[in-house]
Formats: sequence, structure tokens, C-alpha cells
Amino acid sequence: MKINVNEQGHLTIGGCDALELAQNYETPLVVYDVAQIRQQLRSYQEAFKQQQISAVVSYASKAFCAKAIYQVVQQEGAHVDVVSAGELATALAAGFDPQNISYHGNNKSLAELDFAIAQQVGVLVVDNFYELTLLQSLLHYKYPRQTIQVMLRITPGISAHTHEYDQTGQIDSKFGFDVNSGQAEKALQQVLQNPQLDLIGIHAHIGSQIMAVAGFELLVAKLCQLAHAWQQKYHFETKILNLGGGFGIRYTDSDEPLTAQQFVEAIVQTLRKEWVNSDSELPQVWIEPGRAIVGNAGVSLYTIGSKKTIPHVRTFLTVDGGMGDNIRPALYQAQYEAVLARAPLAAAEQTVTVAGRYCESGDVLISQQALPATQPGDILAVLATGAYGYSMASNYNRIGRPAVVFAEEGQGQIVVAREEIVDLMHLDQDYVKENE
Ligand SMILES: *Cc1c(COP(=O)(O)O)cnc(C)c1O
Repeated sequence: MKINVNEQGHLTIGGCDALELAQNYETPLVVYDVAQIRQQLRSYQEAFKQQQISAVVSYASKAFCAKAIYQVVQQEGAHVDVVSAGELATALAAGFDPQNISYHGNNKSLAELDFAIAQQVGVLVVDNFYELTLLQSLLHYKYPRQTIQVMLRITPGISAHTHEYDQTGQIDSKFGFDVNSGQAEKALQQVLQNPQLDLIGIHAHIGSQIMAVAGFELLVAKLCQLAHAWQQKYHFETKILNLGGGFGIRYTDSDEPLTAQQFVEAIVQTLRKEWVNSDSELPQVWIEPGRAIVGNAGVSLYTIGSKKTIPHVRTFLTVDGGMGDNIRPALYQAQYEAVLARAPLAAAEQTVTVAGRYCESGDVLISQQALPATQPGDILAVLATGAYGYSMASNYNRIGRPAVVFAEEGQGQIVVAREEIVDLMHLDQDYVKENE
């Protein structure tokens, strides 16, 4: 993992001293290195440019959603994906251009579809027949003069995860129209018959934390075959192939992710090969990285508290956060690495289990972590927590969610305030029993 230190040997994030950030903003604290977010967005954009193909990089904002990230993504000229009215409203409040927003989800409500149409969201990614029905009646009755751009989310029958892919498994998915059983084609017919629906592309998403190109190559081939079949049978020419996200990142030193360039090269080469006999124009390629944009840019700072050594078993080192701000280790045994912020490069003297403060035995952030000697009050930095950490945070145990800081060129700025105790009671109402 890439560790930056300053003259005092302290960990720095976005040019800011991690100890100073912890002191100024308290812990637990999520800090993003903004330059790294920009760098990741640009690496995908530039990889497509190098391949001389028209492409759109759309940040999947469920990985980390806050006004500030939408603003950074917009500054970099990328699009965003949203999956709820809440994410959409946040993007709009941030000033994000609605034309560059794609709206996903397998159970969008009527109210959400209405909101998306009213706000002139760029693309609705239609997932199922129920949604199609809602959309068609909404357009017919409430927006009779409006045409909206849609993509069809299909289930390609390929799923990919880390190094493996599976060519049949993903049929069993709650997302999208299944291709093999003919549902996708039926959806296509329905969309083509409605003049208010402008079908601009085909979408699929095959998994996450993918560490190999094979799944994407299969996906591109599958989508191209589908596009050709639909072109011949329905004269439908897709403008866009949207390949979803899932690009893997390094969480620990044992992870060896591919670069943006490697993924993009494989995707574009497969596309050109599959398209060679087609007389229609090469479609634009869209991708939707979430984790790959924000994962490595985020660091969680915690204050170390109690330490419990069970002889011959293990030493628990407890921090002031845990599963409430990062559920991933408890939820799916996600692996992380941590460093001591005052001496991230110092030699290890102990191996500890980093435990959280929440009332669950499963609230362990890192099962085995080598660290230098530690004192209560030391700041522990858990690395690569930028994706699906804060965005999955909860108020379990009535503990507020951490503050989020964006750090860039040595300047730190709060972009999400710490959730205080008053905030936690904001929605509570007294219960008053009638007739007493
Ligand atoms: C979750 C999701 C993504 C982003 O996935 P990452 O693994 O974070 O890159 C992209 N597209 C869709 C449709 C998704 O559901």
C-alpha cells in the first residue's frame, strides 16, 4: 500500500498530517485524498482516449455519496450513477448536471421515477417489467409530451468476482432482464413500441472487486452478439454499451489489481473484434466504477482505547469506531490493513486484532494486524476504506456517524459533519398514551 509521510514521519493524506486532522476534527474520521479520486477518474478517461474510442466514465455514487464527491466528479467531466431519490437529490443539490446522471435500481418507486423524469435525469436504466409498466403509465398520463432516454439492464448470464467468473451463475439475479429466457427481447419490443422511450443503450453489471479481464471480455462479446441480433431482427442500433462497474482495488498487500488501462484495453479490443463484421457504427462504451474511484482514496482514522491480551490466544486493540462506520469486515469478511499514524513505517512489535466499540462480537475491523508498540490515544489509520464504508454506515448503538474530510494539496475541509447526539434524536417523538 502506498503510504505518504511528512518530515515528522507522520502519515499524510492529501498532504495533510493525519495526526493534525484527527486532532482538529476528532475521531473516528473518514479522510479522502481528493487528488487520488481525480487521478482514478482520469486514469479511466485517459485509457479510453488512448484506445481512441468514445466513452463515458460514470461514477457509481453508492460507493460514497455526499455533495462534495458529486462536485469533484463534475469537475472531472465524468457522469454519475444514482440508485435512489436520496442520491439523486444529493447530486442535484451539489449542482450536478442532471443530463449526466443515470438512475439505476431494481425497485424504483413510482415517486422516484416521477422525480427522475421531472428533474430530467439523463438516463433511466430500466430493470424489470413492473418498472416498465410504471414508467409507461407515468409518461402517458403525467408527461405526455416528454421523451426520456432509457437503457435496458440485462442479465447476461456472466458473473465475475475477483479472479473467477461464472457463465451461468448470474441468471439467478434479482437485477435485470434475463437474456436466455427471452425476457430481454420482450422488454426490447415493449420499449421500441413506445415513442416516449428512447432506447440508447444496453446495460449489464457483472460483479465487484474484479481482478481479471476475462469476465469483461465475455460480457462485451455477449452484449455485441445481442446488439447484432437486435439490429438484424428489429433494426435497433444501440448507441451505447454500458458494462457496469466492478473494477477491483488493493485492500491489502496480497491484492494485485489490474490498472484502468489493462481493463480498458481488454474491453476495447474485444469490442473491435466483435464489431468487425457489423455495418452499424461502433457504439460508445460506458463504464460505472464505484469502488475503483474512491476506495483507495479513503482512510479511516480512529483513536486507540483499550487493549486486552488473552495469553496464548490474541490481543484485542479496540478503537473508537467499528462496524457502525465500516460494516464490510463483519458483513463479508472484508480485509483491511492499518498503520499507526504517528509512525506508519516503524517496525512491528506486536500482532493485534483491531476490534470496534460496537456491541457485537463480530465487530472486528482487522483480524490480524502487525503494529509498532501502541499507547491509548494513538491514532490508527485503516487504509482503503473509501468505498462502501461511510455509505453503509449505521447508527447502531446510537452512535453518530463520523465526519468526512476532503484533503487536497495540504488543505483539509469538512464535507460531511459529524453526526452529533442531538442529530441522533432528531426523528424521535415522545410516546404519550391517550386518556391518561
Ligand atoms: C454497484 C454498481 C456499480 C459499482 O460497482 P463497483 O464494484 O463499486 O465498481 C456499478 N454499476 C452498477 C449497476 C452497480 O450496481
